Amino acid sequence: MRIAVIGAGIIGLATADELVGRGHEVTVFDPEPANGSSLAAAGMLAHAAEMSWGQDALAPLMRASAEKYPEFVDRLSAKSARSLGHRADGTLSVGVDAADREALVALSRLQREQGLSVDQLTGTAARDFEAGLGPAVTSAVFTPDDHQIDPRLVTAALLEVLGDRVRLESVDAVTRTGERVTGIRLASGVQIDADAVVAAAGLGTAAIDGIPALPLRPVWGDILRLRVPPALRPLLTRTVRAQVRGRSAYLVPRGDGTVVVGASVREGGVAGVHAGSVLALLRDAETVVPGIGECEIVEMLARPRPASADAVPLLGLVEEGLLVSTGFDRHGVLLAPLAAEVGADLVEGRPVDERLRSAVDPQRFADAAASRARDNADWTPPAVVDPVGAVSKGSS
Ligand SMILES: Cc1cc2nc3c(=O)[nH]c(=O)nc-3n(C[C@H](O)[C@H](O)[C@H](O)COP(=O)(O)OP(=O)(O)OC[C@H]3O[C@@H](n4cnc5c(N)ncnc54)[C@H](O)[C@@H]3O)c2cc1C
Repeated sequence: MRIAVIGAGIIGLATADELVGRGHEVTVFDPEPANGSSLAAAGMLAHAAEMSWGQDALAPLMRASAEKYPEFVDRLSAKSARSLGHRADGTLSVGVDAADREALVALSRLQREQGLSVDQLTGTAARDFEAGLGPAVTSAVFTPDDHQIDPRLVTAALLEVLGDRVRLESVDAVTRTGERVTGIRLASGVQIDADAVVAAAGLGTAAIDGIPALPLRPVWGDILRLRVPPALRPLLTRTVRAQVRGRSAYLVPRGDGTVVVGASVREGGVAGVHAGSVLALLRDAETVVPGIGECEIVEMLARPRPASADAVPLLGLVEEGLLVSTGFDRHGVLLAPLAAEVGADLVEGRPVDERLRSAVDPQRFADAAASRARDNADWTPPAVVDPVGAVSKGSS
């Protein structure tokens, strides 16, 4: 098949690479490859530490994709001859006050119920484990099965293996012949014919003409990269997630002597780096790892995460010839191998597990709204007896 992929973030690139591997003729269109949400990502592959309540649809996807990661990494690093910064050293989640400790204990109960490996530690045991932690840390939980990767190395490797299949052009519209999507129109006005179109343009997906309405919203994240002075290295040996008096932050050490400190989660505010978020991140990071105060700030960045209305991806065929793959919110790096495989299966018309397909179906909101409307169509408000004895209809 000739396949046009819109968007060269981690989702579009991983899907394109999967489709190339299956023998298709693929072209990816993006004016600024790997410069969206994927540029900001910390790269935690933390299906265990990032588990939380109300993730019935999301948690199985996170777990399934985490299982695919080692093979995804092996394949991509072999093809590109690049290291991707993949590390399998787990996540240490730490707390400061009593409420943080209670939150960690409650979460570790949930993680155990879900069959995940969890070790509960005291603050002292955590400091034996991770010497960079400061005295403010009073409780900790270790989830050994979490991994991490450097998303910038992943997108660079994918761009390299895709080579001149990636074109630096913006897409204005998907185009149709009769009832099916048969191509795209570039911003330059050029028409490109395709047997299938994959719309993986992150938040930009909803702005492309001809794509059905999608419930996408920007969830901004501010994030910092710090260089640790040689005398303090290694400041950390694994990812640390911190609960600091109810606020969350994380610190992700990289092999090059830098530490990523993130990330805010905000639905509004400035469309650039937010001072208050940076202040809170640095304060909280220094509370748990005092050496942070000695580091050099090498980058501050903010990007909007493409999030759906329920924070579960929007991945599926929305009409013949058009696959949507966006809405990966806070987990797009973790979910990339699964998104690539499922996206390619759907494009090829292969069967996909029905529970998975319906969990990520981009049309689930429209279907749910239609079924609510049907259920309510015959509903009439109950009769209310008013104080003077006359019978009236409820009106509120
Ligand atoms: C601060 C921060 C930290 C994060 N940390 C993690 C983490 O630790 N682990 C994790 O799993 N996830 C993390 N995420 C989430 C992750 O970054 C996203 O889920 C993921 O990058 C989404 O990838 P994407 O390819 O869908 O979108 P993007 O990376 O935004 O890519 C979309 C691409 O589409 C292109 N595009 C847009 N419109 C058009 C158009 N009209 N034509 C052509 N191209 C177009 C854009 O130029 C862009 O390159 C983090 C996100 C943020 C912001």
